[in-house]
Amino acid sequence: MLSVKGLKANVGDEEILRGLDLEVKPGEVHAIMGPNGSGKSTFAHVLSGREGYEVTAGSATLEGTDLFALEPEERARLGLFLAFQYPVELPGVNNMYFLKAALNAIRKSRGEEELDAVSFMRLMKERLKVLHLDDSLLKRPVNFGFSGGEKKRNEIFQMAMLEPKLAILDETDSGLDIDALRIVADGVNALRGPERSMIVVTHYQRLLDYIEPDHVHVLAKGRIIRSGGKELALELEEKGYGWIVDGEAA
Ligand code: ADP
Ligand code: MG
Ligand code: MG
Repeated sequence: MLSVKGLKANVGDEEILRGLDLEVKPGEVHAIMGPNGSGKSTFAHVLSGREGYEVTAGSATLEGTDLFALEPEERARLGLFLAFQYPVELPGVNNMYFLKAALNAIRKSRGEEELDAVSFMRLMKERLKVLHLDDSLLKRPVNFGFSGGEKKRNEIFQMAMLEPKLAILDETDSGLDIDALRIVADGVNALRGPERSMIVVTHYQRLLDYIEPDHVHVLAKGRIIRSGGKELALELEEKGYGWIVDGEAA
């Protein structure tokens, strides 16, 4: 699904990613953990094509397609979803309208028919049910005045509606309370499937109590320096990152 090889990237003059390798197969859920400032969010931004991040070496392909040759919107249409891609508040635009436009843009680019209002409504109801959400979010302006938990609900709902092949959730907010963690975890679990891969970036071991990742990686100083199963997350909770990061530096 995703293949990243020897990825190096700069922010300004500083090299932040320093040779990152990652392989994600269809249907897998990967967790990326690591100390603050290690480059986790940078990695997510680079994949999404956000401005200000310069790729200097290496490659990233989604189902064989070179991501770096594509504009951010094209990456999204290809099936890459980043939870923070749509975090802006759009006071005059309700969620329903926003999602319909986004979904139809994706469908159109895949050569699929646009959904009419009735089919769209049916799809929304179905997805809300899968996620155990009520429809109160839909009529509200996009992200406007949302609480932390509502933002998370909305992110997960966007993910459900846009049917990504690869979803990246960067859980950077230090303010995530236990309810918000549950929302993210339940959403990820509900949307898991053989065709959909997910990367959950987190420094909360706690999140992984609810999501059982297939693989756990430690990102430090711009590279993945350790990979393992879910037991690695438990080990990290117990011992912190020092034992790996220091060992790596020696
Ligand atoms: P993490 O998500 O692992 O905490 P980040 O990817 O946010 O780490 O940051 C990695 C490093 O890159 C940090 O030293 C940070 O200061 C720097 N960095 C990231 N984005 C920017 C930016 N837009 N401008 C300047 N420095 C940045
Ligand atoms: Mg950080
Ligand atoms: Mg971060």
